[in-house]
Amino acid sequence: MKAYQLYIDGKFVDSESGECRPTINPATEEPIAMVPVATAGDTRRAIEAARRSFDSRAWSGMDVRERAKILMRIVEKLKDRQDELAQIESADSGATIRKTSMMDIPIGIEHFKALVELGERVPSYEPLPWIDMPAVSWNFVHREPIGVCAGIIPWNFPFMMAVWKIAPALIMGNSVVLKPATDTPLSALELAAAAADCGLPPGVLNVVIGSGSVVGEELCTNPLVDKVALTGSTETGRRVMKLAAETVKKVTLELGGKSPTIICDDADLSIAVDGALFGTFFHAGQVCESGTRCFVPALIYDEFMGRIRERVTHIRIGDTADYETTMGPVVSKAQLARVLGYIETGRQEGARLVCGGGRPSEMKKGWFVQPTIFEEVSNGATIAREEIFGPVLSVIRYQNLDEAIAMANDSMYGLGGAVFSKDIPKAIAIAKRIRTGTVWINDFHLLNALAPFGGYKQSGVGRELGPHGLLEYTQVKHIHVDLALERSKKFWYDYILND
Ligand code: NAP
Ligand code: MG
Repeated sequence: MKAYQLYIDGKFVDSESGECRPTINPATEEPIAMVPVATAGDTRRAIEAARRSFDSRAWSGMDVRERAKILMRIVEKLKDRQDELAQIESADSGATIRKTSMMDIPIGIEHFKALVELGERVPSYEPLPWIDMPAVSWNFVHREPIGVCAGIIPWNFPFMMAVWKIAPALIMGNSVVLKPATDTPLSALELAAAAADCGLPPGVLNVVIGSGSVVGEELCTNPLVDKVALTGSTETGRRVMKLAAETVKKVTLELGGKSPTIICDDADLSIAVDGALFGTFFHAGQVCESGTRCFVPALIYDEFMGRIRERVTHIRIGDTADYETTMGPVVSKAQLARVLGYIETGRQEGARLVCGGGRPSEMKKGWFVQPTIFEEVSNGATIAREEIFGPVLSVIRYQNLDEAIAMANDSMYGLGGAVFSKDIPKAIAIAKRIRTGTVWINDFHLLNALAPFGGYKQSGVGRELGPHGLLEYTQVKHIHVDLALERSKKFWYDYILND
């Protein structure tokens, strides 16, 4: 079994405690590799290395085009190992090989490249919108890297999330300490291996494997860290924000969701039904922006439900290493218990079970859950309010669009959403009324490296991807150059000097 190491200051090293543990394949429940368990001391070493590299200006002071060249070498190395990475990601996270080989790894690499290319175009010089003191001063805004950026990522899309934290931070000149989720550490370590001999100065990228309570909390409290970017649950987001407040770090958060899908009565049902299924059951529902609340108009309710009952049977649960399998297990035993608990709550609160409702009997091993649909769900029910992070869809009937939009917005979350309608101007008008960071029209889940992604309300703070996401990795400096180089013209000095 392969034994991995931490990546600190440009070297692969063991944890100072020497402690290791196995990482498990959720589909087989078998160990697949050994990983070190980092201590707070290991984390501090990584943070100090990142700080040294940043302060040396070896990377932060390098021309952005030179940084881009080095980062593109990493992209090429990742491309060369695409198939192997897809297998590692599938085994470590329980995602199907169909998904990791078609989406996670190639799109992750594509995002890496797009973010580097976009980062090269972010101007470091911005003029002011108008000249405030003509001919007296020259004022401009200079954008520079923030410093040491901590990235804390979840287990649902381990490779993609590592890319989203590393690529924007590095192209903008920052140094990074990345903490993958305990359950899915391997692809981030493989990414570090790809980066190791591409020319990054030591300490610019560090990957530390360990728990949120030890490694994560050190990253959020250490005064040498300038920014923390977390993707994870809203509960962890609150904790991270509180911890980071002690040293007033910049914080960006991508948190939970309970995204609404509004089906209009003029929707193309072949697109809307499959779209609702894709929106919910993709990666066994372990996607933060999953469309877990589906609002269906009374006018077409029976037809919609008839079709969804049939189409859901085309989701194929099975061996995640088989390309025919379309849905894998949830990530861990704990997550399995959590999802089954919510299904039980759904039943108890009176929702009607349409399909699924438990573990598939044909799977003897692995943390699988059947695609589960409840109907006649009240928008106030627990399964319609809380993020389940499993393959559970709540269908909610509505009478008119105002009611559907009001229910869609009646949530503490505001991450994503979708509208299905053939009338595009109407769908855009509805999208504008949904209080979430992304709305898809006649689609779901398609994230674009050039468009911002993030949450309203308790789904997050700040944005990732696109120019907006890159700017989150910059600090803004105002430079004022005095042009009136004669003492007599500087009348404001006389506010304090009376001579
Ligand atoms: P989580 O606890 O929020 O974990 C996300 C990341 O934060 C992990 O790397 C985790 O480390 C770390 N972390 C946990 N506690 C921390 C702390 N006190 N300080 C700093 N970092 C900390 O999410 P989870 O346990 O993986 O999943 C729980 C629920 O979160 C899911 O059921 C789902 O509702 C939600 N979730 C949301 C997303 C999303 O993208 N919105 C992704 C995953 C999960 P360790 O895991 O290594 O301890
Ligand atoms: Mg694992």
